[in-house]
Amino acid sequence: MNSYSPDQTEVEAMQSRIRAAGLRCTAARLAVLKELSRAQSPLTHADVSERLVSQGIDKATVFRNLVDLVDAEILSRTELGDHVWRFEVRGPGTEAEQAHPHFVCLDCGGVTCLSDLDFDAPSRRATSRVGEIKEILIKGVCVECNPVD
Ligand SMILES: [Zn+2]
Ligand SMILES: [Zn+2]
Repeated sequence: MNSYSPDQTEVEAMQSRIRAAGLRCTAARLAVLKELSRAQSPLTHADVSERLVSQGIDKATVFRNLVDLVDAEILSRTELGDHVWRFEVRGPGTEAEQAHPHFVCLDCGGVTCLSDLDFDAPSRRATSRVGEIKEILIKGVCVECNPVD
């Protein structure tokens, strides 16, 4: 546990990303971004707080930094039908290019990014007649809850 730590180059990239957005690169802000960068799936405020409490960063500080990083478009925020915001690092590209479906397990509530599942241009055009897509949500039972071999 806790064995992953980003190397110096990755940390510098995070620092310059924070500064490029016009924010001060505080220790807490960097810690929040590091935590989300290593996550395999979007994290809630509670998830991030839990992981940073050992570094002496309180929940309110985590929340403030999550909001700042969303405002700076470094993080994106998703709501998957359970009224809980989940945060993840935004990659390069526009918001539309970044959008990817999320898989939510009906048993354990676990959320996984389906970054490889492309919602292609014809599908986007077809749905644009209905409205603007903000979130693509796929519900199922994850492999841990329903092992298949
Ligand atoms: Zn599950
Ligand atoms: Zn995601």
